[in-house]
Amino acid sequence: MSLARIKGQDKAIGLLRAAFESERLSHAYLFQGPDGVGKETTALAFAKALNCEEEGLSGCGTCASCRMAEGLSHPDIHLIFPVPGTLKPAERRELLVGYARDGYREQDFGRKTAIISVETVLSEVVAKSNQRPYLGPWKVFVLADADMMTTEAANTLLKTLEEPPDRTVIILTTSRPNALPVTVVSRCQKIPFASLGRDVVEEVLLADPRLGFDEARARAASLLAQGSVGVAVRTDKQGPMVDLKRVADLMVGRRTKDVASLVNEATGLAFRLGRTEQQRLLDLMLLWYRDVLKLSERGKEAATPHLLYSGHLAELTDTADAMDVETLGRLIDKVNDARRAIERYSNPTIVFTSVLLDMAVARKETATKRGINHAA
Ligand SMILES: [Zn+2]
Repeated sequence: MSLARIKGQDKAIGLLRAAFESERLSHAYLFQGPDGVGKETTALAFAKALNCEEEGLSGCGTCASCRMAEGLSHPDIHLIFPVPGTLKPAERRELLVGYARDGYREQDFGRKTAIISVETVLSEVVAKSNQRPYLGPWKVFVLADADMMTTEAANTLLKTLEEPPDRTVIILTTSRPNALPVTVVSRCQKIPFASLGRDVVEEVLLADPRLGFDEARARAASLLAQGSVGVAVRTDKQGPMVDLKRVADLMVGRRTKDVASLVNEATGLAFRLGRTEQQRLLDLMLLWYRDVLKLSERGKEAATPHLLYSGHLAELTDTADAMDVETLGRLIDKVNDARRAIERYSNPTIVFTSVLLDMAVARKETATKRGINHAA
């Protein structure tokens, strides 16, 4: 990837270009912004461009340096990312090879917690930053998800940040800058990254052949991605999408007609689905309401190409006609709360009963109001 081809991050890239052109590169940068919006891609593209044999920041993609950078095998460009402490060096190399090939870095290690350990910082950053560049001109260290550094690792890195070696750029990326020690953050120049629009996510998915998206899948994944290419790719890799019809039935109350069926459904969701699936279901519920809002705001014709539930237009239209924006806003808040509750390991039976009940009450209120309006 070259800097010029990165989408939706003009501000961040503009700042880097300006620093390079005025020869005022910082020794350390903190790329901060939501997950999966291109922080790591930009960091690697910047590292490649700095070392490109061509003039300026072109990152030509054809010189020897660029080709090595793209294969993640450049001796002066070091990518460090969180892995389980038990991972062997050979397994880590395998991950890198897979990343270079697929454009996707595996972040799910099941039950094992991924960290950036002090040993990794010592061997991959401290030791290597004290060597001269092999090919030059720049040594670049990219620490992806730097907030996953252990305290010891962060303290060790801090010493390098305080006395930065020559011709070295250290780039930390994070979606949680507050989880990094203030002492580390204060040594870095901050570069903000923005959320991506749905169409940009779709464009990025289609632009990178390594990701292997066709148009239909790119559209569905981008609708679920909430502004993050990373989320879109992960969603797609997790296999077939949750059945949208099932979610639609849930949203219009076909599965929760009375209190007994509602409790039944909530219990089923709590026991049948794992935590990740529960979160995904709540995301899909949010997207239902988002679709309803889009329909209300833009009308059927303009909204349809942007709807995830375009196969359920009649039900969406019913909801859009029946509910005012306030009620919708309230339900969206409820589903968001439920998602956070699941994240914090709250009891899923209680969470789902509560959210399904809120939805049923809102539907009933709306129906009553409508009844009154019809009567009048
Ligand atoms: Zn080049």
